[in-house]
Amino acid sequence: IYADVQQGPAIEVFALTQAFRDDVNTPKVNLSVGAYRTNDGQPWVLPVVRKTEVSIATDETINHEYLPVTGLDTFTRAATELVLGADSIALKEKRAFGVQTISGTGALRVAAEFLLRQLKRNTVYYSNPTWENHHKIFADTGFTSLNSYRYWDQNKRQLDLEGMLADLDKAPAGAVIILHACAHNPTGMDPTQDQWKKIADLIERKKLFPLFDSAYQGFASGDPDLDAWAIRYFVDRGFELFVCQSFAKNFGLYCERVGNLTIVQQSGATRDQIHSQITLLIRGLYSNPPAYGARIVSKVLNTPALRQEWMDCIKAMSSRIREMRKLLRDKLVELGTPGNWDHIVNQIGMFSYTGLNEKQVAVLIKEYHIYLLKTGRINMCGLNTGNFEYVAKAIHAAVTL
Ligand code: PLP
Repeated sequence: IYADVQQGPAIEVFALTQAFRDDVNTPKVNLSVGAYRTNDGQPWVLPVVRKTEVSIATDETINHEYLPVTGLDTFTRAATELVLGADSIALKEKRAFGVQTISGTGALRVAAEFLLRQLKRNTVYYSNPTWENHHKIFADTGFTSLNSYRYWDQNKRQLDLEGMLADLDKAPAGAVIILHACAHNPTGMDPTQDQWKKIADLIERKKLFPLFDSAYQGFASGDPDLDAWAIRYFVDRGFELFVCQSFAKNFGLYCERVGNLTIVQQSGATRDQIHSQITLLIRGLYSNPPAYGARIVSKVLNTPALRQEWMDCIKAMSSRIREMRKLLRDKLVELGTPGNWDHIVNQIGMFSYTGLNEKQVAVLIKEYHIYLLKTGRINMCGLNTGNFEYVAKAIHAAVTL
């Protein structure tokens, strides 16, 4: 029965993590993972998360009954408010609501299913490059026109706004445009507020549908409001849009799969119909979401003292990342490594598109046991005060080979 099943290709990021584990050499550095690491190279359970877990575990009033199909109400309200802002006009006018999803990936999948089935959309545009799962999610859902728009200028190592606008200008009306709300993965390069305005003008003029992927709110700058600026700007301008939220990075709840899909409409009159169709969709996909992580996020966001502790945690994570960016850039400059390395400090969030080519990446992996994606993307969290010099010297060697 199974004889004709073909071996699928390896998923690069997981294959690299395995290769890193199997590598017995010291030193070795893993710059490929998509998760936060402390200065000691360890995963971090946010203290506020640990504390909340303990209080939930000993709360006798909590049971393990099913959640509603669209999730924990206190969570979806807090998540939607976090992304749109408590004073959002769309919330005040009751024309925005959220549904709980299986982390950010699940939010994107539910969004794609709804867009295809209910709104009959089959065309999507994502940035080149983008998080590799964007293509897969929309292709697996059944979108038939999968396109990329220019985003990264490899020579200048900056955003290619002109290319982006030119490509989106060719998109047919109604096309779904995936936009990274902040901390673009993999380049770490976000549009400026002025550039966002130009992007919004074009999306409005061409009647495109903005879908924001928000996987790093608060984790990028340390300020959740600042990281949601682009989304709120679009909402204030009156766009109808989707936001796919992940709480993997900003709460360190990677495996708990906590996500939210926010739907912003022009009029609240369509709320019940949309809600009912999303309920049916989720019922057929996984019936209802897990409660554990959503309870943690809900309790933290809805309790002012805990929320403040969480804000301190995201500040700590984002500042460590910024510090690593500076240490790496400064060291490369000190070594006189050919090229300009300012993009490393101009980028934001966990990832940096270093500009290293495939050959240089291969040298880093083979000769120096430094693991990174072949596109040259590195996770700044893999760096620490103990290994940044080793990494900078290895990059220098690979570039000057
Ligand atoms: N979107 C982007 C851009 C991401 O980088 C990620 C995770 O790496 C996600 C969405 C979704 O992640 P998760 O499904 O773990 O929440």
